[in-house]
Amino acid sequence: MSAAFPKVGDDMRVLIDRAQNCFKWGLFDRDPLPWWSRGRITLLGDAAHPMLPFLAQGAAMAIEDGFVLARELSLSPEDLAAALQRYEAIRRPRSGKVQLAARAQANIFHLTSPAARLKRWLKLDRLTKSDPKLLNRDWLYEHDATAGEPAVASPSR
Ligand SMILES: Cc1cc2nc3c(=O)[nH]c(=O)nc-3n(C[C@H](O)[C@H](O)[C@H](O)COP(=O)(O)OP(=O)(O)OC[C@H]3O[C@@H](n4cnc5c(N)ncnc54)[C@H](O)[C@@H]3O)c2cc1C
Repeated sequence: MSAAFPKVGDDMRVLIDRAQNCFKWGLFDRDPLPWWSRGRITLLGDAAHPMLPFLAQGAAMAIEDGFVLARELSLSPEDLAAALQRYEAIRRPRSGKVQLAARAQANIFHLTSPAARLKRWLKLDRLTKSDPKLLNRDWLYEHDATAGEPAVASPSR
């Protein structure tokens, strides 16, 4: 690990030198799923929408799922299948958008060649000048999962 991080600051160097066990693991995501619920069963959190951590939103999405799932269940406790269909219809578009945005972020963060990085910054500079809202993340961070949202009807399974 020391060899992989030759230019870190003093504090980081101490941490690395004192590490006794190091793990290397892969990061995986999936494409957004076409559906989550069948009858009285549904998915939530990473099981429903595994995403890369480059927007730091995986757990945030699971918490939003949890709120909406609880609300929809409380609205029709006698009809679980309908509640799950509403939950899925509300949550799938948003979590799918975040999944794909996190994947795009990975491509931006992990360019290794200096030439590719320069090209990326020049392109981003040009694009944000022509569209100042391009990197706007209000859709992500200003979303209020507790506000009522119309569920887009989807066929029940
Ligand atoms: C490096 C990294 C950084 C991250 N940073 C952030 C961040 O900054 N912000 C953020 O919001 N998210 C972040 N995340 C994502 C976040 O950790 C996950 O999205 C979140 O933990 C998903 O929660 P979950 O409950 O859906 O799944 P999990 O946390 O995976 O929980 C599933 C649980 O089910 C258990 N389980 C599995 N199989 C069985 C079984 N058969 N029987 C019983 N139990 C079982 C597992 O042991 C586990 O405890 C990060 C992820 C990574 C990898």
